[in-house]
Formats: sequence, C-alpha cells, structure tokens
Amino acid sequence: MITRDELLHYLNRLLKPELFHDYAPNGLQVEGKEKIERIITGVTANQALFDEAVKQEADLVFVHHGFFWQDEDPRVIGIKKNRLQTLLNHNINLIGYHLPLDAHPIYGNNAQLAKLFDFVVEDRMPSMTSSSLVWKGKLSKAVDGKMFCQQLKNKLHREPLYIPGRSEKISSIAWCSGGAGSYIGEIVDCNFDAYLTGEVTESIVHVAREYGMHLFVAGHHATERYGVKALGEHIAEKFNVQCQFVDVDSPV
Ligand SMILES: [Zn+2]
Repeated sequence: MITRDELLHYLNRLLKPELFHDYAPNGLQVEGKEKIERIITGVTANQALFDEAVKQEADLVFVHHGFFWQDEDPRVIGIKKNRLQTLLNHNINLIGYHLPLDAHPIYGNNAQLAKLFDFVVEDRMPSMTSSSLVWKGKLSKAVDGKMFCQQLKNKLHREPLYIPGRSEKISSIAWCSGGAGSYIGEIVDCNFDAYLTGEVTESIVHVAREYGMHLFVAGHHATERYGVKALGEHIAEKFNVQCQFVDVDSPV
C-alpha cells in the first residue's frame, strides 16, 4: 500500500515534469481516495478504461494522455461529464504524465521502443535539450525497409505506414513516439537512414520522400503503449501494489 501523495512525490522526482513545457497538467488530474492498493495503467484516458478500472476496483488510473489539454473546451458536459462522474463516483484518482513519460531515460516511451526493437541507443538529438524527445541510434542489425516494416508489425501488432527512402538498407535511425512527424524537419541534416514515429500529417510524407529518408509511421497508440506499462510495473514492484495495464486499442 502507498498513499496518493507518496506516489505523486515519487513520480515527480522520477519524471521531473518541471523540465517540460507541456500541453496538459502533469501529475494528479482528478483527486480520489488516499490509499492506493490497485492501479490501472493505460495510454489514453477514456470511458472504457475507467469502466474497467471500476470493474477491477482500482484506486488509481495512470495514463499518458490525460485530461485538460491546452485549447480543450473546459466545460464539464457530455462525455467529459460522464468520464469525470465515473471517476468521482468511485473515488478513483487520475494521474497523467505526458512529455515527461515520453522522455524518461528508462521508463519513457522512446526508451521502451529502443528496448522493444533492440536499437543501439547513441544519444538524443544534439540540437535539443536533455529533455529532448527525439532519440537516435542504430538497428542492431541493418535490414531493408520491408523487413523493418515486418518487425514493426510483429511487435506493435499493427501494419505501419511506410514511405521508402533512398538507402538500400537501414542502419541509422531516429525515433520519437506519438504524434512527432514534424520533428523530421529537425533531423534531416543528420543523415539518418530512417525516422520512426507514431503519427504524421499529410505534408510530412513529401518531406520524407524529398530527403530520401525511410519513414515509418507505426501508430500513435502503438508506439506509446510501452512507457506507462513499464512504469506501472516498476511502481507495482517498488511499492508492493497491484498494477494492471489495460490496452483499450486505437488504430491511430
Ligand atoms: Zn502521445
């Protein structure tokens, strides 16, 4: 058992949200009960996840994409009312960590992608800060684009969008989980063979083609399952609480 405040204190020290200019509040978003014994983790706050938390009698839901985004309609009406009511009726805490959970060197989404695909991590992009979200490295074994697509499909359980690049084989790679297509503009000078991300806008396809960089778009949800899952498992072990990752899938 751990208290809500002890857990938040630990997570804030671990994830250092003060280093980030984020688009949503990091940490406690909805206050529930004080004693935490059972945690549900998930990628995105949504009704199905909360319904599962109620079913499993969870004390706390921990997500990567929480509530209260910049430019979001602040009114508590419609589905937002339903979601909040589910949490409040059952005294369930909601905590969310966004960019700090992308960037963390062990439990972050990018670190966990590297682990999943056995990338040789070299650094984060030098032009960026220590909280940089784009990582760079090498594949442990150079493969062609089609083979890398197959590897992505096998491990992320979805077909990636693939825009072929110039090099015959892929060795050097930059990656950033989630909706990070626009970062391709910041890495083109570094001559990577490939860029892996979760979600892109239409114009990014043309940028990749013109620079001859292999582009793999493997899903926002699919590339961001692994950070919150890994951190949940760590919390469960460290504080002797139960933690269950619930994958409410999204094809985006
Ligand atoms: Zn995201």
